[in-house]
Amino acid sequence: MSVSLKTVFPVLLGLMAQATMALGTLHFVSGNVSDDYRINIVFVGDGYTQSQEDQFLSDVRTASTGVFNTPPYKEYANLFNVFAIFVPSKESGADKPLQNIYKDTYFNATFGKETERLVTVNSAKVFDEVIALVPEYNSIVVIVNDPQYGGSGGAISVATASSSAIELVLHEMGHSFAALADEYDTPYGITPYETHNATAQLTREKIRWRNWISSTTPLPTPKTTSYKQSVGAFEGAIYQPTGWYRPMQVCKMRELGSPFCPVCAETHVAKFRKLVPPLLEAFPPPDTLVYTGKGTTQIDLKIRPASGTVKTNWYLNDNLAASGSVLHLGDLNLNQSYKKLKVIVRDTTLLVRNDSIKNLLTDSLVWYIKKEVPVSLKPIQDRSAFLSWRKQGSRRVLHLSSRFFIPKSESGQVPRIAQVTGRIYTAQGQYLGLPLVWQAVLKGNIVPDWSLTLPEQSLQNLCNRQTCFLEISYRTETSGQVGSRQSHSLLLPSL
Ligand SMILES: [Zn+2]
Repeated sequence: MSVSLKTVFPVLLGLMAQATMALGTLHFVSGNVSDDYRINIVFVGDGYTQSQEDQFLSDVRTASTGVFNTPPYKEYANLFNVFAIFVPSKESGADKPLQNIYKDTYFNATFGKETERLVTVNSAKVFDEVIALVPEYNSIVVIVNDPQYGGSGGAISVATASSSAIELVLHEMGHSFAALADEYDTPYGITPYETHNATAQLTREKIRWRNWISSTTPLPTPKTTSYKQSVGAFEGAIYQPTGWYRPMQVCKMRELGSPFCPVCAETHVAKFRKLVPPLLEAFPPPDTLVYTGKGTTQIDLKIRPASGTVKTNWYLNDNLAASGSVLHLGDLNLNQSYKKLKVIVRDTTLLVRNDSIKNLLTDSLVWYIKKEVPVSLKPIQDRSAFLSWRKQGSRRVLHLSSRFFIPKSESGQVPRIAQVTGRIYTAQGQYLGLPLVWQAVLKGNIVPDWSLTLPEQSLQNLCNRQTCFLEISYRTETSGQVGSRQSHSLLLPSL
């Protein structure tokens, strides 16, 4: 797109300082460049001359469109940014030693000396370019300007701009991005290993894709038409004709033009979700107290993707209270007691059945919420006050590290802090009425660290199995004028 350089300018600006090695031109191909939570795929061209930049960008768009029209990339396309780095080569094409053809290209793309289907590049030079221009890259694909079929996997995916380019890119990204093995069964001198899509196990419970295998499917699974659509354990995988098994008869990791088998698709989704979890951010931040009386009217979540298979449910004291990525606090049935507010964000995609991958699809956060006018004792910065247990002789005391800042009065006077009290509540709002002893020296309008001696045994009994809070309240006093009572609550750390 013609606006690409403009769009990408802030990125370039930030990166140019370290981009001393970069010779390439960076193009933004698709996505949202200002979104920090994206998976960045970077295409790099080799064997394109200075006048072939448009050809390179067109080849990138063809490959990229092909990738994002293919499951499971298709379902997760809006988690990605696509970049392209153009570095001109002196000549078009690539070396073909078997045909005695040599081309002067920047990344020295070379067809194999034994088999021309293997095409490699100078990875170090590719990394130099990508690290300089897109240091946040997640996957690198080199497109080689040659119509002859060929490619390779490893840390960088390489594919020629042949008619099979899209399929090659998908297969090679299966290796370099999703860490999948080849499902070929022709020997190639490779030591097999247990991985996402290859196993030597035939015990159902020990096969890592067991959740995809129907209880009636025999193991090993016969390679017959009746099991053509089934997931099982088919002999022949990871370059071993016998003793090693793959999940399906056909898969893109075995045969270009086939879809990824459900197990390989699921492995991709796991990688996507490791990089971009469903729940990214929340405001106000979790593990804090939220008061609804003033200011805070809603809780906002940043979720990816914002629509589709991601479901968001809110629970108030473990009862379902609302759904959706924005919670309007006015819709909740709140009172003067603290209630536990929990959100569970779950990607309900049917592409995943593996239990450990399912864990990656679920995020949850907790707040404690109460209907009350919010406190006006403000920490200098967020979360600048925290409680910890410290040893003092033979016992432990609760230590409050605080840098509370009490604003000056309108006349510019520093208020005095008076009538400090501390009270301990349970999350349900029950006042525990424990005797507290304060040791704090107040200086000016900064409240220094405090130590608080608490009857440890009683606390252990009361706060071991439930969440407790310390609520500190005080009054300010300026020239004899006593202000209203202010309070601030902090989660009590576990003993
Ligand atoms: Zn597969």
